[in-house]
Amino acid sequence: MLPYIRSDLSQLTAYTPHPGGTSGQPVPTLLDRLDTNECPYDLPDELKQKLAWLYQHEIETNRYPDGSHASLKQAIAEYVNETDGVAGITPDQISVGNGSDELIRSLLIATCLNGAGSILVADPTFSMYGIIATTLGIPVISVNRHPDTFELDLGAGKTAITQSAKPPLRVVFVVHPNSPTANALTPNEINWLRNLPPEILVVIDEAYFEFSQNTLVGELSRHPNWIILRTFSKAFRLAALRVGYAIAHPELISVLEKVRLPYNLPSFSLAAASLALENRQTLLGVIDEIIGEREQLIAELKQIPALKIWPSASNFLYLRLNAPSPALDLPKLMAQLKSQGTLVRYTGEGLRITIGSPAENQRTLNHLQKLL
Ligand SMILES: *Cc1c(COP(=O)(O)O)cnc(C)c1O
Repeated sequence: MLPYIRSDLSQLTAYTPHPGGTSGQPVPTLLDRLDTNECPYDLPDELKQKLAWLYQHEIETNRYPDGSHASLKQAIAEYVNETDGVAGITPDQISVGNGSDELIRSLLIATCLNGAGSILVADPTFSMYGIIATTLGIPVISVNRHPDTFELDLGAGKTAITQSAKPPLRVVFVVHPNSPTANALTPNEINWLRNLPPEILVVIDEAYFEFSQNTLVGELSRHPNWIILRTFSKAFRLAALRVGYAIAHPELISVLEKVRLPYNLPSFSLAAASLALENRQTLLGVIDEIIGEREQLIAELKQIPALKIWPSASNFLYLRLNAPSPALDLPKLMAQLKSQGTLVRYTGEGLRITIGSPAENQRTLNHLQKLL
C-alpha cells in the first residue's frame, strides 16, 4: 500500500468492464456481447459520415469545447417535453455529464462528502452507486428486494432512514426499470418515494427509459428533491462517447454545474449527442424490434424447465436456475456461454442477458437449449 493513499481504498478493486469477458479459456473470435446492455446496432453510416464531416469542418481541436452545453441542453429539453404528460422542462433544469456515471459522482460530492451523508440502494441494482460512493468514503446502506417481484423492501428502507444518524441518510437511488432485474418501479414504491422527506434526495435512474416508455419526469415539478438521470449510452447508441444528463429543479441543477469539471464533455461527444437527438426518429426506430425480440426470447426460454425467467421492461432479461447444483450453477453456465461465443453478465445471483440483434438472440437461445 502506498503510504500517501487513503487506507479505506485498499479494499477496493478497479471496475472490470467485462467480467469473465477477456480472461479464462479461449473464446471464439465472434463474440455476441450481450453483457453491457448496449443497443446492438452502431450508428447508421449516413450519421457516421455526418459526424465525420462535423469533425473535419466544424470542430476546432485546438479550442476548448462549449463548456455551457447550451445547445445540447436545449435539444434535450425539447426531447424530454415530447413525452406524454411532460411539459415545461427548460434547459436550466438539465445538466450534462460525461456519462451518467459522472453525474452520479457529482451528486454524491454535492450531498454526502465529508461525512455529510450516507446513501441507500436496494440490491441487486446498478453497481456504480455503491462503487462511486465507496471511492469517496461515503457509507452505503443496502436493503433487499422481494425474491420474486424484486420490489424493494420498503419496511427496511424506512428503518434505514429513521435509524441512520451519523451520518444521516441523504440519497436514495432507484432505477426505473431496475438493472439487472428489469422491473419498473411499482405504484407502491413510487408512493414511498413521493413521501420521502425533503431532506432526502431521490435519484431516479431512467437509463432504459426509451425501452420502458415509463418516466417520472412529469412529477418533478411536485418533487423538488427528485432528480432523474438518463443516458445516451443505451437506446441512442453512443456508449463510446460518454454522454448522460440529469433533469431536476433549477436550484439542484445549478449545484451540479458548480461541482462538475468545466470542460467535462469533448466537442465530439457534444456534436454526436446533438446529432443523435436530431435523428431520434431513425435511431429509436429499432426499439419496437428489440422489444419484440425480447418477448420472443423470453417466451422461448420459458420452455426450458431449468430456467426461472422474469418479465422485462427493458432491453435485457434476467434469469436464474430453478435448482442450482454443484454440477450446474450460473457462474458455470456463464463460462459455458462464453466458450460458445456469448458474453452475458452474472450479477445479483442471476444472469443478465442483453437483447441483441435477431441473429444474436437466436444464437443465445440455441446455446442455452444445448447447454440445458
Ligand atoms: C447503463 C446504465 C447507465 C449509463 O451509464 P453511462 O455512464 O451514461 O454510460 C446508467 N445507469 C444504469 C442503471 C445503467 O444500466
